[in-house]
Amino acid sequence: MLAVSPVSADAPVGAPAAPAPQSAPVAVATPTVPGEPGRSAPHARRESLCDPGQEAGRAEGPVPGAAGRAGLERFGPTVVSWACDPFAAVAGLPATELEAGEPERLYTLLTRDQGIEPLDYAPDDLVPLFDGPYRARAEVADQLVLLVEAARTAGHPVVSVTSGFRDYATQQGTYEDWVRRSGPEQADRVSARPGFSEHQLGLAVDLTGTCGGFACFGESPEGQWVAENAHRFGFIIRYPEGGADVTGYAYEPWHLRYVGPRAAWAMHLRGEVYWENYAAVALSAADVRP
Ligand SMILES: [Zn+2]
Repeated sequence: MLAVSPVSADAPVGAPAAPAPQSAPVAVATPTVPGEPGRSAPHARRESLCDPGQEAGRAEGPVPGAAGRAGLERFGPTVVSWACDPFAAVAGLPATELEAGEPERLYTLLTRDQGIEPLDYAPDDLVPLFDGPYRARAEVADQLVLLVEAARTAGHPVVSVTSGFRDYATQQGTYEDWVRRSGPEQADRVSARPGFSEHQLGLAVDLTGTCGGFACFGESPEGQWVAENAHRFGFIIRYPEGGADVTGYAYEPWHLRYVGPRAAWAMHLRGEVYWENYAAVALSAADVRP
């Protein structure tokens, strides 16, 4: 991955490829451990999840016993702790339908080199997002409604969807259009190949706000609110700033991937920002706690 140039998975057809931002190393916010000033909460990596030193990890989290999706709004000053179980910190959150029923799909890890199986996969429960032209899986749509409503309540009325599910044929057309315009090498830099886009899972959405664009969303007040709160609704910023050597993609503040509230919350509490480090962990936990 280190040799991979930062690229965008989402460059719209006809738009010039944005130059890779020469940003300073990203500072990943790590919550301090209550009662232990100066001690950072563990930054979990897959191989160190069961480090005994992490078993004392504590942070604010979702309210235990919160029931139903509406319960996801109830979170706050409850101290939770975790041990080796990746979901111990979020035991109070009931599993959603996808978390309980389709963990393999929900926790799918797609990279530039790892595609969907089968490559022409399409989910069978797609619904319109906000009655608009874009679609996503039903649970994703429900959770996105909650996120946008919460953003509005927090003073950010303009958070809109610019993309949702894209099927194999659409992605193939986009990719081939890029090949015709710029050649295969450039096409690979600016467009995910068909079968390799998270949008084909029906679990990814692109957002924008008052600025109306893609990259500007990250700097906008509503974009920053989304980055700070997306986990409450089961979403992660899939391609974090400064993470191209891990993800293979440049920073995409607009691209949200749905992984379910339990995994998103657990990642947040651990200070983990990369799905590359958590997908297998989440799936292994789902295997033992259906
Ligand atoms: Zn996207």
